[in-house]
Amino acid sequence: MAGDGIVQLIDEKGKRLDGRSVDELRPIEIKIGVIENADGSAEIRMGKNIIIAAVYGPRELHPKHRALPNEALIQCFYRMSTFSVNDRKSPAPSRREKEISMVISSALTSVVLTEKFPRTTIDVYLQVLQADGGTRCASLTAASVALADAGVPMRGLISSVATGLVNDKVILDLYDIEDQKGSGDVPIGYSPILDEVSLIQLDGVFTVDQFVEALNLGVKGANEIYEIQKKALKQKYTSIRAEVAVEPKVEPKEEPKIEPKVESKVEPKEEPKEEPPKKEQSE
Ligand code: UDP
Repeated sequence: MAGDGIVQLIDEKGKRLDGRSVDELRPIEIKIGVIENADGSAEIRMGKNIIIAAVYGPRELHPKHRALPNEALIQCFYRMSTFSVNDRKSPAPSRREKEISMVISSALTSVVLTEKFPRTTIDVYLQVLQADGGTRCASLTAASVALADAGVPMRGLISSVATGLVNDKVILDLYDIEDQKGSGDVPIGYSPILDEVSLIQLDGVFTVDQFVEALNLGVKGANEIYEIQKKALKQKYTSIRAEVAVEPKVEPKEEPKIEPKVESKVEPKEEPKEEPPKKEQSE
């Protein structure tokens, strides 16, 4: 939510309150396969945000009449835990949570090959354990790798981050105070491999130049997040490969036994005795 933009959030050296420069991401950590029961899962830590993404499916959809005849339905359930923010969050799903679930679902639908699984659902649960601004973006980033972990075919991963306007400067990856006190934010979902924007929202007022700058900065941030996503996925599969790769047992080389030559007892073939030519009998 954009604030009035009056609070000084960037110092004269261009540093933000948390010490970052305007184009710097918060530290990001992604772990794959954190929920054993799920088909795919991930945990993302982006600054103080901690979010779990768990994917189930493709599986049968209930009630069946909601199933799409030619493709899978991607259902997202973004929820903030009651303890994820300072003021206790009501456990009832809010309008904000429903809206975030919807935009994340729509972004993921644009990259998943849904036509491969008609009449099914792919359920993506996003549970925010700790929130500090930018949770919809961090959730989308985590959902994307959790889908990959589930083996759901996709045209590409989505990497997501918000940019915003603070003290008249465009900044990358807003945290809570910047989100509240800044004058605008633009959450962006971007697929580096496809060069496609699958989510964009805008809160506040930007000039066209500021908007273009915000979009470009978001794409730069998404490219950096993409590298972290790929590394996390590779790390999981390299460790699985190491676990399953059974070292071939090296047996001590036995000297080949030299068997004594057994003379073959094959009797020499008798040459067929030629019958002497029969004498012609004289009459
Ligand atoms: N927030 C909160 N209580 C709520 C909803 C949000 O304290 O009920 C905080 C939380 O830190 C969240 C931030 O406000 O990350 C910004 O929320 P916004 O709706 O802009 O979504 P987000 O930036 O998390 O995608």
